[in-house]
Amino acid sequence: MQMPPLTLYLAAPRGFCAGVDRAIKIVEMSIEKWGAPIYVRHEIVHNKFVVDSLRAKGAVFVEELDEAPDDRPVIFSAHGVAKSVPAEAARRNMVFVDATCPLVSKVHIEAERHHENGLQMVMIGHAGHPETVGTMGQLPEGEVLLVETSEDVAALEPRDPEQLAYITQTTLSVDDTKDIVAALKARFPAIVGPHKEDICYATTNRQEAVKAIAPKVEALLVIGSPNSSNSRRLVEVARARGCEYAQLVGNATEIDWRALEGIATVGVTAGASAPEVLVDEVVAAFRDRYDVSVETVETARESVEFKVPRVLREEA
Ligand code: SF4
Repeated sequence: MQMPPLTLYLAAPRGFCAGVDRAIKIVEMSIEKWGAPIYVRHEIVHNKFVVDSLRAKGAVFVEELDEAPDDRPVIFSAHGVAKSVPAEAARRNMVFVDATCPLVSKVHIEAERHHENGLQMVMIGHAGHPETVGTMGQLPEGEVLLVETSEDVAALEPRDPEQLAYITQTTLSVDDTKDIVAALKARFPAIVGPHKEDICYATTNRQEAVKAIAPKVEALLVIGSPNSSNSRRLVEVARARGCEYAQLVGNATEIDWRALEGIATVGVTAGASAPEVLVDEVVAAFRDRYDVSVETVETARESVEFKVPRVLREEA
């Protein structure tokens, strides 16, 4: 049977970022060093495939520290944790390894520096997301005010409008954040911003690649889990750039083939926590149904790498 032709535009960069790569290595190396089980507070990265694979190797995922025993090592996820979490682990004499992405730690340090200088913080982020909870938890209660939208800015009641700084979650939409920053600057002209964007290189680059592909395609699939912030932003970016059918899929089995009937172009990308094997499976699933020609759309090259913490680099 002759298969219909399909051009599949593959985004580059896509998939794993340096922070996710490091966090997964930290879990794997901890299991090697200390044996199983190793406890991980929260999903190490927001991807079901990754979490299931690590669980099979001996990682036990818990939501809170009190679900982990004192005598097994515990790892904190890439999203970062409030200061109270390592403090509690130290109080219980636990061995712990912090897999917080260095680019999230950078935001934590920024918040602390501003706080020391007497500024109150405004955080642009999603309420309840572990990164937001962790970043806000770097400072005492009430020192970080959260805004999710431009509308939230109007409702802010800072201690002193002249003494404010803002930080952002690392995985937001670059364009939406610009609007919120503009609203903050309009209402609080003295507000201090970060020296270098808090939205990380990986988030920015994956969004840029989607912006380049979205106008070319009838449908765009983002491989990622529903709790992955950066993956969900990629879907929104595609829709905002005119690709009406943009969907998040966990893996190839979640593709709604009926919705894709009759298309001749499709875009494929993967969020920062989605492994390449899932991309390969999606491409293979298209090849089973279409006569596929793959075109890579490369908008940036990445060479960022982060070292794992010293405790894992030392001999056991
Ligand atoms: S998405 Fe960005 S901030 Fe988050 S882990 Fe990856 S590099 Fe770090």
